[in-house]
Amino acid sequence: MCGIVGYIGGSNAVNAVVEGLHRLEYRGYDSAGITFLEDRELKTIKDKGRVAHLVDMIPPEIFSEVAIGHTRWATHGKPSHENAHPHHDCGGTISVVHNGIIENYILLKELLIKEGHKFVSETDTEVIAHLIEKYYEGSIVLEQAVKMAIDSLEGTYGLVVLSSKEPDKIIAARRASPIILGVGDKENFVASDATAIVKYTKKIIYLEDGELAVLTRNDIRIFNQRNIKVDKKISSITWDEKHTSKDGYPHFMLKEIHEQPGSFHNTLAGHIDAEEGTAHLGGMDNLFPGNSIHRIRRIVILGCGTSWHAGLLGEYYLERLTGIPTEVEYASEFRYRTPSIDEDTFVIALSQSGETADTMAAIKEAKNRGAKVFGIVNVIGSSVSREVNQGLYIHVGPEIGVASTKAFLSQAAALFLIALYIGRKKIVSYKEGMEYIAELEKLEDKLRAVLAGTEKKVKELAEKYASYPSFLYLGRGLNFPIALEGALKLKEISYIHAEGYPAGEMKHGPIALIDKNFPAFFVAPGDEIFEKSLSNIQEIKARDGKIIILTDEGSVIPEKLADDIIRIPATIEVFYPFLEIIPLQLFAYYIAVKKDRDVDKPRNLAKSVTVE
Ligand code: GLU
Repeated sequence: MCGIVGYIGGSNAVNAVVEGLHRLEYRGYDSAGITFLEDRELKTIKDKGRVAHLVDMIPPEIFSEVAIGHTRWATHGKPSHENAHPHHDCGGTISVVHNGIIENYILLKELLIKEGHKFVSETDTEVIAHLIEKYYEGSIVLEQAVKMAIDSLEGTYGLVVLSSKEPDKIIAARRASPIILGVGDKENFVASDATAIVKYTKKIIYLEDGELAVLTRNDIRIFNQRNIKVDKKISSITWDEKHTSKDGYPHFMLKEIHEQPGSFHNTLAGHIDAEEGTAHLGGMDNLFPGNSIHRIRRIVILGCGTSWHAGLLGEYYLERLTGIPTEVEYASEFRYRTPSIDEDTFVIALSQSGETADTMAAIKEAKNRGAKVFGIVNVIGSSVSREVNQGLYIHVGPEIGVASTKAFLSQAAALFLIALYIGRKKIVSYKEGMEYIAELEKLEDKLRAVLAGTEKKVKELAEKYASYPSFLYLGRGLNFPIALEGALKLKEISYIHAEGYPAGEMKHGPIALIDKNFPAFFVAPGDEIFEKSLSNIQEIKARDGKIIILTDEGSVIPEKLADDIIRIPATIEVFYPFLEIIPLQLFAYYIAVKKDRDVDKPRNLAKSVTVE
């Protein structure tokens, strides 16, 4: 969601910022804008629409050694030229880009209007520019004025500010919205996401909540909330630009679906203990020293969207392998209930980006109540990874397609590892543990076999079914979260209405929807509830519903029961979800392509949802 890039140095800042904005496009946005310096004055170009449209509006001969840019995902005020960032003060000498939400903006706006400030947008952001203007007088320098302004703000912000009065510096600040600084050679960068600047530098400083940074071309100074200068560690990014290209695929999503055997491998790497039939998890060892793991009375998994679906798989795994009562909560709802969390609750938080605002808020709430919080995160150094007590990186590399694919599979794998780790200390025998490990080690090849064996068929089915207006996805047990995730993928990228249901629930309501125009996609491998699934399929068949069945290669499906069957290799019951998800991702993908949708950047969606 929404992106920020800034550059100060000897090269053309306009090019660096535009390049960065292009790289942030995957996050989802509705408007784009840039401010640079022209004849010592600020010049801003912005509009609703894509970065390509912004580029068309920028005169090609422009050269500026400083610039800030933004991609907006509207929260306050519709996407429009006026509401696009950067925003300005009355004098037009201050330019502000902002990610997040200023919660007390109405009050501040009224006060500022009374003091004579003129507003031109409907955004919450614009108050920041006018507040800075108010304080920026006499001997006050820009960083002091910004500090005075942010002290009056309630809400969240990743903020970058430029002024034509001090064009040799950029100011950045954050509260609950990510800002990173990129360290270059006689040039420095600021961005909301390392993807924007990895082409130029791999040396990164993570700004913490409450900190403010002053960037010049030669140095970066950072101050904490009490205005004391702090020394910060410079981290290195371990991936490079190649990870953010499509590598010959027509879409990032298809590339990322195909990356899954490798990304799954990376998630497991170093965590398999084939001697003891368990998982090596350093973070869990640190979090539960000695025998303290036996104090866990309850497990709560937090996530949003696809992460929440991975969490549902985790619930099955943890209950089955540890016997500990486990619940999955929507992170966005967690704070607004009275969750029974205490020191004996183990909380697992899932976020691909590690910047999901709802998940961050829920983690803080859980920590406040004394729980131990473990994070499963992809983006290294992200806010969630720094907030949790301990955690595990899934190491799938940048996920650019807005609809999550490889991160989902690896989140589920990570949850299985945690379940196995705890389970082996509780109720899982050595023999059983070894069986899990033996099969886990075969899965990478089976994932490859699923890709090779189903893609062509799934593509044909996508052609056949693309015109249906609604779909039902059904599964029982571990297959139910996969049904939910399959339905979500279809909704997200094809905009077709789809619902996921536990197959046994269908007769309690949704079956009323079934007729010949309402296909049902059954996820039904040959597990212990296969026979029951077959009965549910018969119920749909009896009402003329179209039926697609996803099952394993050995299961016998009665003749004429299914309109179409997709088969995947056999595995043990707990691992079917890992194989099942791939054909469902491909089905959604090819339907979306058939319908000519913007697969990697579906409408209204953002990759990392940094507002609550
Ligand atoms: N709340 C601000 C706006 O609506 C910022 C949104 C964003 O994070 O892109 O303009």
